[in-house]
Amino acid sequence: MPEVKADIVIVGAGIAGLWTFAELRKRGYDVLLLASGGVGGTQTLAAQGIIHSGLKYALTGKVNKLAHSISAMPDVWLDSLRGEGPVDLTAARMAASSQQLLIPGGLVGSMVSGLTKRMLGRDVYEIPRGDWPVGLPDTGFNGTAIHMSEPVLDIPSVVRALAGASPDSVRSVRANDGSSANESSEDFFDTTQLDKDILVTPTATIKASCFIFTSAEGNHPIARAAKHDEHLKTQKRPLLMGFLKPVPFDLFVHLVGTSEKPIATITTHTTHAGERVWYLGGQVAEREKDADPAMVLSAIRKAFAKYLPKIDLASFEFAVYPVDRVEGKSESKGWMPDTPTIHDAGNALYCWPTKLTFAPLLARMLLPKLEEKGVRPSHTQSDFSALPPAKFAPPPWDTVTWDRVSDR
Ligand SMILES: Cc1cc2nc3c(=O)[nH]c(=O)nc-3n(C[C@H](O)[C@H](O)[C@H](O)COP(=O)(O)OP(=O)(O)OC[C@H]3O[C@@H](n4cnc5c(N)ncnc54)[C@H](O)[C@@H]3O)c2cc1C
Repeated sequence: MPEVKADIVIVGAGIAGLWTFAELRKRGYDVLLLASGGVGGTQTLAAQGIIHSGLKYALTGKVNKLAHSISAMPDVWLDSLRGEGPVDLTAARMAASSQQLLIPGGLVGSMVSGLTKRMLGRDVYEIPRGDWPVGLPDTGFNGTAIHMSEPVLDIPSVVRALAGASPDSVRSVRANDGSSANESSEDFFDTTQLDKDILVTPTATIKASCFIFTSAEGNHPIARAAKHDEHLKTQKRPLLMGFLKPVPFDLFVHLVGTSEKPIATITTHTTHAGERVWYLGGQVAEREKDADPAMVLSAIRKAFAKYLPKIDLASFEFAVYPVDRVEGKSESKGWMPDTPTIHDAGNALYCWPTKLTFAPLLARMLLPKLEEKGVRPSHTQSDFSALPPAKFAPPPWDTVTWDRVSDR
């Protein structure tokens, strides 16, 4: 069994692990990033890629702390895309520089519209009908379109940019090829010697000063096995996301109604075969992972018939993707925490970013913790080639099973 050494080992290659890896490497730490499945994580590749500024949350009037803590994030991401941020995302792609908040016409719509306008700042304004983005007028939407300058990123390209800067330090804990994003196991690691700074994986014995666990769902069982779970509380919130393809134009919209969650949040992605896909979250997807996919399609049909009536769904294919959001436990039921969660235990730090958008804040929160633990950058780079290389996982729109809408 090979033995390797690093300043820090990060376990879990979703956005939390990848961003932290890239930022710590830039700061001179010798970091090994271990992926259990393919690189890109589970939730991360399933994300819609929206870099939230908090408007969506502030709109509900309920989670102002969240809206506040997230508002600084878009600038960090945009700086990084320009090569001027804490990590280098110059190789990543922006899918859209802004989104639209679609507020249906009528009394309720104008109330929400009024609220939105009061909150609006420099980057949020009503778009005159003649200036609506290509495609939006063809949906038949009747209401107000608000410009929101929140970018949407192409997440597979973000993953490649973050891992690609130091590919030799991104390795797999598996002896096999590790090409699936969904695999996770409680039995990957022997954490019994963690207090002696040793983690044993199926492929290596690893010595490090600090272990950062960014394994989402896997974190809690790992903490339990390492007897680090005192006072640790986590939560899962399920989703059954919807897909439609091949769609005629790009949409990056939040379709809002009277409820605190949008009726549908629609983003656009491209399959490996070049087909354009609409990815649908929001209320249409808020259900148990094992719910009948027909319920998702029925909610989408209803929303489109009412608000985007000119879109003919019958010509599309449809798919669903079940996935959990995994986070630290929130005080408010059904909601996410207001910031990333870090559980600090001995020489281990267990992390949940809460949102992809929050990855830079998570890394910033980790820095003083490393300082407290006396973990300093060695400005070296170890050779990790004894461990198997990790592969990139595919995004969900390339793995789901498609059916014709007209057959359902
Ligand atoms: C459908 C959906 C859409 C979303 N859209 C957005 C959005 O538009 N904007 C936004 O800001 N946020 C969004 N989010 C939230 C965001 O995706 C998550 O907060 C973020 O991706 C979590 O990152 P992570 O690295 O903690 O987890 P993950 O991406 O899930 O990565 C965890 C990794 O750990 C690995 N792992 C699991 N168990 C083990 C183990 N035992 N040992 C080792 N590794 C293990 C997994 O295989 C995985 O690779 C969305 C979430 C979902 C589910």
